[in-house]
Amino acid sequence: MPKKPQSETEADLTAVSARRRPRADIMELGGRRLKPATLMMGHGFDPALSEGSLKPPIFLTSTFVFENAAAGKRFFEGVTGKRPGGAEGLVYSRFNGPNQEILEDRLAVWEDAEDALTFSSGMAAIATVMLALVRPGDTIVHSGPLYAATETLIARILGRFGVHWLDFPAGASEADIEAAITKAKGAGRVALIYLESPANPTNVLVDVEAVARVRDRHFPQGGERPPIVIDNTFLGPLWQKPLAHGADLVLYSLTKYAGGHSDLVAGGVTGAKAALDPIRAMRNTIGTITDPHSAWMLLRSLETLELRMSRAGENAARVCAWLRDHPKVQRVGYLGFLEEGSAQADIYRRHCTGAGSTFSLYLKGGEAEAFRFLDALKIAKLAVSLGGTETLASHPAGMTHLSVPDARKQALDIGDNLVRISIGVEDPEDLIADFQQALEAV
Ligand SMILES: *Cc1c(COP(=O)(O)O)cnc(C)c1O
Repeated sequence: MPKKPQSETEADLTAVSARRRPRADIMELGGRRLKPATLMMGHGFDPALSEGSLKPPIFLTSTFVFENAAAGKRFFEGVTGKRPGGAEGLVYSRFNGPNQEILEDRLAVWEDAEDALTFSSGMAAIATVMLALVRPGDTIVHSGPLYAATETLIARILGRFGVHWLDFPAGASEADIEAAITKAKGAGRVALIYLESPANPTNVLVDVEAVARVRDRHFPQGGERPPIVIDNTFLGPLWQKPLAHGADLVLYSLTKYAGGHSDLVAGGVTGAKAALDPIRAMRNTIGTITDPHSAWMLLRSLETLELRMSRAGENAARVCAWLRDHPKVQRVGYLGFLEEGSAQADIYRRHCTGAGSTFSLYLKGGEAEAFRFLDALKIAKLAVSLGGTETLASHPAGMTHLSVPDARKQALDIGDNLVRISIGVEDPEDLIADFQQALEAV
């Protein structure tokens, strides 16, 4: 909801519209900071501003009426960036809206972030962040592999505007990350360091703390520094909080776990207000904000986020433990099975609090075996995407990664025998029964 006044003088200036501000939230009780799961039921919404409605209405309007001309001018100062931190009041639905602002307040709570912005899709969030940060001649340093559309955006679309890229493998050591950043610096301005962890579909984790150390060594505080941006779609916000490990901006496809019901497309970015200011300005200009209806749906989703993700995570642990020993299974690429003492296990221990519910199942055989397995599934649905209440299964080599060149597929271990699975919140024994009968059909 409209932002709280920043200072006494500002409070005086905004007094005229004070009655339209939400009541202050209770964030603490008896010295205890309230947990996100509790705050999701009311944070950022004052029923008194909406006829006492327990739940926020969906505000289907393109524009908002100003109390007076001075208020309109002040709000526009926020929209245009003359005053940092975004608009103090509601202006026009390309810039902000009640549903989006409540959603942004609540998303920030999950990430322990100062603020958040939401977008019409995960890719809209990623594209808006990059457009806000890059200039011709700049280099984007990124971990690889990335979500396919993100790779397309960086290499093929931003490449047309003279933006270069340089990548390092997701599991790279601090020395290898250092080498990549040194090389990029030699080529000109580094616009941003972009990470995705775990990588899809390999599930390889990026050492965000190592990336932050390298960035801080090369770009000391006080000077111009490339922000560390990370796509946290696979483990966030429950199982990985990269802001605590040195990232500046955390990105989401809210379509996945955050939305969680496979019924909407949306994106989000969380971080410090100052880091979000240029991104908000770009979003205000190009109109990549999420719509009020999707924002409202996401408010429902966030109320059950912890329940859904916890159950999906427990289900995945049981399913993976069962799959691992099956004679027709070659290997299960699941974050819960990292080799003790390995570099990946060390990153996992420092960065993650759960193994997620999306994993790679490598069957013995090739495409024929994988297809027989997929076609035999009766509960799991054959679809791309992840993080929904229902279990989904897909074939990366033939679907999401079809256009990836063969050599790169091989390097990334995207074989024809690979099936990608996202476990939902069904009964785990029913899921195991489904995988059992589908493996029998292989
Ligand atoms: C799905 C996904 C995206 C893109 O999100 P959309 O909401 O489909 O635009 C980006 N990154 C990752 C890791 C994803 O899984």
